[in-house]
Amino acid sequence: MGLFRWSQSRSLWMMHFCTGCGAVEMPPTMTSRYDMERFGIIPMATPRQADILLITGYLTVKTLKRVVRSYEQMADPKYVIGFGSCTINGGMYWDSYNTVKQLDLYIPVDLYIAGCMPRPDSIIDAFVKLREMIAKGEANGWKRYRENLEWYRTNQAKVFNVEKWSAIEP
Ligand code: SF4
Repeated sequence: MGLFRWSQSRSLWMMHFCTGCGAVEMPPTMTSRYDMERFGIIPMATPRQADILLITGYLTVKTLKRVVRSYEQMADPKYVIGFGSCTINGGMYWDSYNTVKQLDLYIPVDLYIAGCMPRPDSIIDAFVKLREMIAKGEANGWKRYRENLEWYRTNQAKVFNVEKWSAIEP
């Protein structure tokens, strides 16, 4: 593993996009009880300075637009964690008319944390795994997004019910 990638993996800024009920597990993860800072991960308020985008649960279609915009404002390399079953398969909202059922159809997800809701232990475990993936060069969602942008754009346009969608347009 290269020293550069190893160094990147030990200093990560995380923006948590609080969408669902699982967000309530973030304060204990970030504060003294579980103390994610000991792994070199600290919260960041804006996407432009963040390395990790953590989506904390279910997403409405309207919120997904903000998530895509936020993701595209982040600089490469960037990483996405889907937190909770809702990001994997819709969870308990699997038959809702207005929630997204599979997050990685719209933005690339590097790692999922299963559960409803996942405990801070699982979040810390995911951070440790993501660090190792980054150090080994295995967290490549940001490359997949660039290489398959047309495919993501088609899925985004479909769920937003528009002919063409471009997140960078106002
Ligand atoms: S996975 Fe469970 S806790 Fe998380 S947003 Fe969905 S319903 Fe809420």
